[in-house]
Amino acid sequence: IDFEHCGFPETLNFNLKTAGYEVPTPIQMQMIPAGLLGRDLLASADTGSGKTAAFLLPVITRALVQSKAPSALILTPTRELAIQIEHQAKQLMGGLPRMRTALLVGGLPAPPQRHRLRQHIQVIIATPGRLLDMMKQSSVELGNVKIVVVDEADTMLKMGFQQQVLDILENVPQDCQTILVSATIPARIEQLASRLLHDPVRVIA
Ligand code: AMP
Repeated sequence: IDFEHCGFPETLNFNLKTAGYEVPTPIQMQMIPAGLLGRDLLASADTGSGKTAAFLLPVITRALVQSKAPSALILTPTRELAIQIEHQAKQLMGGLPRMRTALLVGGLPAPPQRHRLRQHIQVIIATPGRLLDMMKQSSVELGNVKIVVVDEADTMLKMGFQQQVLDILENVPQDCQTILVSATIPARIEQLASRLLHDPVRVIA
């Protein structure tokens, strides 16, 4: 595949070019078509593979046609990773109408994050602890989410976030599209995948 043949809006193609994304990476070639078809994905991919854009492009495409927000949720284990994902998301979403992101992460003050949630946020990028806090305070509601990404799932488990991830995903609609990305796929990730994914397409970077 080629980015131009994915049927992205003109603005998104322009943003890809501006960001210097000319040729899709191998993981992008595998993840993007299946992701755009709405399939669940189990991807074995590490940093540097282009995995972030591989899930962001289906996320953005999906979120663009939703009026109710938030329609996309990206879970990551660390604040640093969340910040990097938001940076790439903003690069790709520039100029697209009504596409706003919110970062819900620990280690930064909660009130500004809560405040931002009042502005029709389409894409939430979060670490599990802070998102659960916000859910408990009814600051965020996930009933309109159509697509979920769990990034660096193996790190999530190593950091002890499995139960928190499961608790969060209890609150998204059953028929959500789910993308699980992990550097390695040990037995514990297979188990998590079998709980979260329906008939997933498996891809390896
Ligand atoms: P990631 O593996 O998602 O952390 O991405 C690694 C780096 O590659 C990031 O700086 C991206 O901006 C960049 N990148 C991702 N996809 C492409 C592409 N198709 N062409 C050029 N650079 C890319």
